Amino acid sequence: MPDTDVRTARKAGFHIEWMVFEDTTNFWARRGSEGPLFAFAGHTDVVPAGPLGQWHTPPFKPTAIDGYLHGRGAADMKGSLAAMVVAVERFVEANPDHKGSIGFLITSDEEGPFINGTTRVVDTLMARNELIDMCIVGEPSSTHSVGDVVKNGRRGSITGDLTVKGIQGHVAYPHLARNPVHQAMPALAELCAVNWDNGNDFFPPTSFQIANINSGTGASNVIPGECLVQFNFRFSTESTDEELKRRVHSILDAHGLEYDLKWTLSGQPFLTDAGTLVDAVVAAIEETTHQKPELLTTGGTSDGRFIARWEVRWLSWAR
Ligand SMILES: [Zn+2]
Repeated sequence: MPDTDVRTARKAGFHIEWMVFEDTTNFWARRGSEGPLFAFAGHTDVVPAGPLGQWHTPPFKPTAIDGYLHGRGAADMKGSLAAMVVAVERFVEANPDHKGSIGFLITSDEEGPFINGTTRVVDTLMARNELIDMCIVGEPSSTHSVGDVVKNGRRGSITGDLTVKGIQGHVAYPHLARNPVHQAMPALAELCAVNWDNGNDFFPPTSFQIANINSGTGASNVIPGECLVQFNFRFSTESTDEELKRRVHSILDAHGLEYDLKWTLSGQPFLTDAGTLVDAVVAAIEETTHQKPELLTTGGTSDGRFIARWEVRWLSWAR
């Protein structure tokens, strides 16, 4: 956070906490001690600027042209951070004794490896039972005009690294070998044809995609010893990662494959259904821009997936 923003936050009655994890500096600020706790979340880091010659303005010197701010991260997400700070400043000036609490969860590791950023702050807050009830992440989500799209959830993402094991041999003596490519193909064809779920009002159907297949020694007369297949699921809230794993294993087992399968879960799907927060966001955007935003769950992921872990916990408590 720029120093001026930190000073502004302090002046506005926020308790400031720097949370430094390894190489990453994070910022947690809170005004008030009661619940409910409403938080704005965001990041100060940006993706690399790329070749400087392709910029019309210096990437790290914000430049206003025709009412638009130019610079690396102007949309993702310096603009959001500035808007959050100014909005809260105005709000607490008009409502100095507001109910509940307001928080800022700002990281400097969102575009990077996201190991010591939001997820570590969330761990810390959870450990001391400081629960965020509602959160707005300042990621840019508009498609054609400001405020036309609000992302109220994200699909989950899980990757499988599959090694199908065979027995290497000479193509002239196939009875002495076992071809892992031949063995993998019918199983992969079946995986490609499965209807994993039908999605729902907010999510498209779960999608299975093969990203990489590697096998072979390069020689035309050798049956390879193994076949490596990497695939990914983008999954809706109609499926769970455990269910998808189980179904993949049962197909591979049914084909009698000898294999290793390593899973990497990048994020669970999450959804903020209709309710107070969604209603307030839609009403505020409509009042300001005179258009009703669309609620979508498409596109890439954001740190919202780490903050949404609270909702998962809440649901499991309720059961
Ligand atoms: Zn971003």
